[in-house]
Amino acid sequence: MAKQSIQQLLDTSPILQCPQCARRGEQVGLIAQGTSLVCTCALCAKVHRFDVSSRGSVNMVPAQKPLLGYTEQFFAARRAVIDHGWYSLLIEQVVQQVALVMDTMHKATPIRIADIGCGEGSYAKAIAQYCASRSIDAQVFGVDLAKDAIHVATTGGSQGVRWIVADLAALPFADQSIDIIVNVFSPANYSEFKRIQTSYGVVLKVVPEISHMVQVHRAVRQADAERTAEVSSALHERSAGDLFAQHASVKQQLRVTQQVEVQPAMQPLLARMTPVLFHREDSTALVSTIHEVTLDAMLLVGKQILE
Ligand SMILES: [Zn+2]
Ligand SMILES: [Zn+2]
Repeated sequence: MAKQSIQQLLDTSPILQCPQCARRGEQVGLIAQGTSLVCTCALCAKVHRFDVSSRGSVNMVPAQKPLLGYTEQFFAARRAVIDHGWYSLLIEQVVQQVALVMDTMHKATPIRIADIGCGEGSYAKAIAQYCASRSIDAQVFGVDLAKDAIHVATTGGSQGVRWIVADLAALPFADQSIDIIVNVFSPANYSEFKRIQTSYGVVLKVVPEISHMVQVHRAVRQADAERTAEVSSALHERSAGDLFAQHASVKQQLRVTQQVEVQPAMQPLLARMTPVLFHREDSTALVSTIHEVTLDAMLLVGKQILE
């Protein structure tokens, strides 16, 4: 199994490019060499070599500073609540929309799908699983800057996804190589999206809606008893939806709302997976008052404006 996961990633080398060289303005391909991806650059003093792990992942940001809050605990908590059924409606809808988009694509080569900012990897896995169950010729990538995210994602195997630690600002894909970009609760980099996307490509973006985690925001607001906390992430993310509409012609908008129970055993998970609680000493006390949360998201499907 491990060998297969490594090979799956190595086999996609023709559409990969070296992100280290890209930072210097060079577009340089990667070739498979043993169990590594090696850049073919003749200009850089040192060859860039990225080893593929037995989990089917490759780290293309080797010297990474720790990302505050976005730790293994954070991603593991996300994975645990998803295993409990949280976000199941949203995952279902994302898979369904990807399936509809794939139906419109008639290609000689595999359909290439990249979940950019994949976090703990649930969406990428669900998409890969769907493609495998229907024998659809697809290559699914899960990309995140946090190596802890990819570590959590690959615990238990690659599950048919090619996992890459990479920076949003220097994605490891060649120009016009990705057919479907998935971007869930995660920042977008539209110039990079535009560069990697095929001319008929589609972007699926998920942004939180106004009621998302409203119970947590309410608890925080009550604890602070002041208005500062009212600049909620929902407000901030709504502008992320507006930004998407500036970069893409929106073909489909779907609101997905799910009410989930927070059992006492899950309260610590909620504290760990919610950025607004990251640096609060009272996070344990806050979540102990929360017994259900609303998951509220907008799924946007659009074609990027390539001009
Ligand atoms: Zn390089
Ligand atoms: Zn170079």
